[in-house]
Amino acid sequence: KTGQLQRLDRAHHLHPFTDFKSLGEEGSRIIERAEGAYIIDSEGNRILDGMAGLWCVNLGYGREELVAAATEQMHQLPYYNNFFKTTHPPAVQLAEKLVSLAPEHMNRVFFTGSGSEANDTVLRMVRRYWALKGKPEKQWVIGRENGYHGSTVAGMSLGGMAPMHEQGGPCVPGITHVRQPYWFGEGRPAGQDPNDFGIECAAALEAKIRELGEENVAAFIAEPVQGAGGAIIPPQSYWPAVKAVLDKYDILLVVDEVICGFGRLGEWFGSVHYDLTPDLMPIAKGLSSGYLPIGGVLVGDRVADTLIEEGGEFFHGFTYSGHPACAAVALRNLELMEAEGVVERVRDDLGPYLAQRWGELGDHPLVGEARSLGLVGALELVDPETGERFDKALGAGNLCRDHSFASGLVMRSVGDTMIISPPLVISHEEIDELVDKARAALDATQRQLAV
Ligand code: PLP
Repeated sequence: KTGQLQRLDRAHHLHPFTDFKSLGEEGSRIIERAEGAYIIDSEGNRILDGMAGLWCVNLGYGREELVAAATEQMHQLPYYNNFFKTTHPPAVQLAEKLVSLAPEHMNRVFFTGSGSEANDTVLRMVRRYWALKGKPEKQWVIGRENGYHGSTVAGMSLGGMAPMHEQGGPCVPGITHVRQPYWFGEGRPAGQDPNDFGIECAAALEAKIRELGEENVAAFIAEPVQGAGGAIIPPQSYWPAVKAVLDKYDILLVVDEVICGFGRLGEWFGSVHYDLTPDLMPIAKGLSSGYLPIGGVLVGDRVADTLIEEGGEFFHGFTYSGHPACAAVALRNLELMEAEGVVERVRDDLGPYLAQRWGELGDHPLVGEARSLGLVGALELVDPETGERFDKALGAGNLCRDHSFASGLVMRSVGDTMIISPPLVISHEEIDELVDKARAALDATQRQLAV
């Protein structure tokens, strides 16, 4: 059965973000079931899902309450829309719940079907806002190198992933990118305090604003902790300095919470962890723990009031904006997270425990840095002989990822950075297992590379 599915998969299924030629004879692994923090493949292997799917299955797999919420809503009202002065209970209730969890000045939500659509919505709202304010010259949006904001043309353009731009260009005009606060990636400049480095990155943003003309810059978009770019946790100095720059030039702040929202960093939003006051917050993923597709944009009063009071109709929306079944599942998901104290547990217990255990991997010869915040972690692989990065052609990160999968742990590789982002309901014992398996994968990679 596995072989047949793999053959059909290869014949007919174009996968996202997959180099098809690299599949070889083996084909893709087929995931059939899942429970708690584990996925189970078609051969019966139980694999600890160190990535919570794609950073999204925050409540873990197999939550009957979420299945029931979907089923009940499908019976009641499987579909209706929120266009043209209609609405339905799940969308309203979810909007109210989100606003109750969001920073105080954010009182409205626009729903989308995904994080990419949320970022397309962001771009349209930013432009509309400045046009309504009589400042159409504010056209530039600044993102960051290696930022990820989705795969639609606008999402890809806001993001700073060079390979995407190369394949998908030309990008949406009026978007540019600045340096990311990636201390390790920039070679840990000898003698420089990471906080000085953080200030330097904020200064690079200010220099870019001046280069573009301060009156021409509409918004800055960034993830609190850069996810797909390599789980990059900025130095403490970074966000306060960025905030000061944006305030100085009256530039909107868009904080992409698609990964960091809903408990990942130990607060409901990464913006809370970093004490940010965003104008717009795109959300998705953990909003429904990935059980059904839903995203949105939480909108601060400044933008929302302008859109509503000065804007009239906003010609924008998706068939599945606030889809009733997806909204019902998201609402139940948030209620469960609240009732079970999931976010507080990440902040006070699981995050610190992971930091301790994951940090121990820093003593492995292949690891140049082990870092984590809340339940996101990364390992930077280095050649033990030099302490520097491996030659890219060796593909050390991918080797480590494959060893990890083979030993029963999903770990992701971004170049030679290994990433984890497990379900927020992972137990201490499962964290121990995760760390042990990560170490085994590092050992196997070291043996294979004979270093
Ligand atoms: N924004 C961030 C920070 C993401 O990590 C992602 C997806 O990984 C997106 C946006 C896009 O979300 P989606 O894949 O739901 O379109």
